[in-house]
Amino acid sequence: MQHGEQSLEKPFDLAIIGGGINGAGIARDAAGRGMSVLLCEQGDLAQATSAASTKLIHGGLRYLEYMEFRLVREALIEREVLLELAPHIIWPLTFVLPHAKEMRPAWMVRLGLFLYDHLGGRKRLPGSRSLDLRRDRVGAPLKDDYRKGFSYSDCWVEDSRLVVLNALDAAERGAEVLTGTRCTQARRTDNGLWEVRTEPVDGSVHPRVIRARALVNAAGPWVTDVLRDVAGLNRPAGLRLVKGSHMVVPRLYEGDQAYILQNDDRRIVFAIPYERQFTLLGTTDKPWNDDAADVAIDDEERAYICRAVNRYFKAQVRPEDAVWSYSGVRPLYDDANENVSAVTRDYVFDIDGGEAEGTPPLLSVFGGKITTYRRLAEHAMEKLLPLMGQEGENRHAPRRWTATAPLPGGDMPGGDFEDFLAKLRSQRPWLPPELAYRYARAYGTRVNGLLGDAGGLGELGTDFGGGLYQAEVDYLVRQEFARTAEDVLWRRSKLGLHVPRDTEDRLREYLGGTTRADDEGMAAK
Ligand SMILES: Cc1cc2nc3c(=O)[nH]c(=O)nc-3n(C[C@H](O)[C@H](O)[C@H](O)COP(=O)(O)OP(=O)(O)OC[C@H]3O[C@@H](n4cnc5c(N)ncnc54)[C@H](O)[C@@H]3O)c2cc1C
Repeated sequence: MQHGEQSLEKPFDLAIIGGGINGAGIARDAAGRGMSVLLCEQGDLAQATSAASTKLIHGGLRYLEYMEFRLVREALIEREVLLELAPHIIWPLTFVLPHAKEMRPAWMVRLGLFLYDHLGGRKRLPGSRSLDLRRDRVGAPLKDDYRKGFSYSDCWVEDSRLVVLNALDAAERGAEVLTGTRCTQARRTDNGLWEVRTEPVDGSVHPRVIRARALVNAAGPWVTDVLRDVAGLNRPAGLRLVKGSHMVVPRLYEGDQAYILQNDDRRIVFAIPYERQFTLLGTTDKPWNDDAADVAIDDEERAYICRAVNRYFKAQVRPEDAVWSYSGVRPLYDDANENVSAVTRDYVFDIDGGEAEGTPPLLSVFGGKITTYRRLAEHAMEKLLPLMGQEGENRHAPRRWTATAPLPGGDMPGGDFEDFLAKLRSQRPWLPPELAYRYARAYGTRVNGLLGDAGGLGELGTDFGGGLYQAEVDYLVRQEFARTAEDVLWRRSKLGLHVPRDTEDRLREYLGGTTRADDEGMAAK
């Protein structure tokens, strides 16, 4: 700390660096156990990897080939748990796997699907089955060479909204959530605490120094930077950065089903219905050695995705068909595997200090998946609580609670989204059907907090165009930590794909002083 900087605030139980899914999930879990929590995120919530995923809550069929049974089982069980907690932003998705005998023999695919069906607590999701693609309507978009196939189920998730809902729930349970705030230094003090310096990136207020009994480093691709540069520690744990990119193209086929396409490098590429008018294609796996903030799709990846898709579909895609693309960097634990596709997707904790060593603990998160974030958070708490000493253990019962507590907006009776939507439409008949659907999906039962007692579209304030009204923007700023046009258009929603440029400009003007310098951002990627 700099000379003279001292915190007079009461120490937090837990300080968390990073507002991706893992930081937000841990904040929620800890706050719900009665701990005092501070979370700081240098950008927006889900600014980095957690908004750049394929958006699947999945067991990961292909990880079976790498014998990742523990991960697959945990993830399969988690699909149904999360579906119950957030039926508005998570929903079942049917996958069609066209059989390509030159890739994998049918017996191998059947065996994989059998394991997938039986490894982990499937209750609501349908099991796998064989398909005759010449007869089944899902075969229609595929080239005639593909006659046989299989189908199975996983779930879709609005990834960046999952992060925000975890942060919102953490805040409602007492956590302090700071966005646009970088952690620049963390040091252990003589009296067994962490002293953590946080700085708003826009320099709007002075840096703040807080104290905490334990520290979590959930900085994703920057986890080792935080260990070294922020905490001043030299830990042995290694990180592999693996880039993955997606392309969004105008809708490639009819129907709600997704396709899992085997590629000749033994990887798979997905084609998934996206935002009603589009198809999401991806992903790639490429080693990444630069700053994760600079990641973007390259020509080789565009060509790779198109080649994989064009092998199967009658309709062909070209790189220039993409209306949008995005890239992220997987922050994987380095297990010294030469093949980047085979590096473990499981999570690993690196723990420094703790009561036995007489120092406050630091837990760093390596790897993980959106799918397993809730279990990761539970495991993190179970590791940390004993390390925080008697006081920590006594004050905070080590009980698990997140498996049955709905995320904000997810408390729909029986998890029945269709029933909820029908009720919303009958209560607010003036909402155009498409807008009612979008609101119900995004906000679930919290939609009334957005709509208030409005009795018509005219009462939702300024019409920014493209279905965006002032009431929604105000709600996102008031409740969901949104500050800029990019936060609203690309992370709280994907309206950026739908609205005219004029909407973006007007929104930027409306949000005025709170717009960040990097606000031009994602649309150009
Ligand atoms: C292409 C791709 C596809 C994927 N698909 C899936 C999928 O379909 N399903 C699935 O389950 N998983 C998927 N994943 C994995 C999943 O997205 C990641 O494991 C997960 O998002 C990692 O979350 P995180 O919170 O650890 O990291 P991040 O989301 O990167 O969050 C880390 C945060 O820390 C912040 N930060 C860093 N340093 C500081 C600092 N000093 N101070 C304050 N804040 C700081 C960053 O700004 C960032 O927001 C995919 C990943 C990729 C890349």
